[in-house]
Amino acid sequence: MTRLCLGFAAWIWILASFLVGCATVRPVPGSLVVPGSDEAAAFVWKFYGAPGPVPKVRWLAPDCTKPSGKPGVRDPFGRCKGGWTITDGIVTSIWIEGGTFSGDTALAHELRHAAQLRWNTPIPHHVEVVPAEDLCGLVALAPAVAVLCERHRRFLEVVDEANRMLSERNM
Ligand SMILES: [Zn+2]
Repeated sequence: MTRLCLGFAAWIWILASFLVGCATVRPVPGSLVVPGSDEAAAFVWKFYGAPGPVPKVRWLAPDCTKPSGKPGVRDPFGRCKGGWTITDGIVTSIWIEGGTFSGDTALAHELRHAAQLRWNTPIPHHVEVVPAEDLCGLVALAPAVAVLCERHRRFLEVVDEANRMLSERNM
């Protein structure tokens, strides 16, 4: 009887492991299915040298127009963005049919946010009080902003580099 029960428990364990295994390869709920997404995300994550599992990517079709005139998606605050990241486990990006990861998505940008979160050094450059592009302009007024400005600049540099690398690989 004991042996039978252990056997049953083992089967439940195997079944549960299998289900967990399935869950890890299933697309994020509500995401478009984008071929090559896993490869592109894994490439960028490795390029950043970020630790742990590659965050999942939720791809959304454009549903608004950004102030720049480019298509975007609504973030949880209702702002029209190329994407957003709240946790280090999942990033959200716009996907444009026929587009590229490097040229038409926020993949590298959002994965960088996820990496910074995983390193416990988040980059808060999307606060509404000071738009990211104005942050560095404030340094003259408040020298303390210099550190944030420098981190912001470095962030954009490394994201550009990741996009160049993706582009060179036709992604
Ligand atoms: Zn950002």
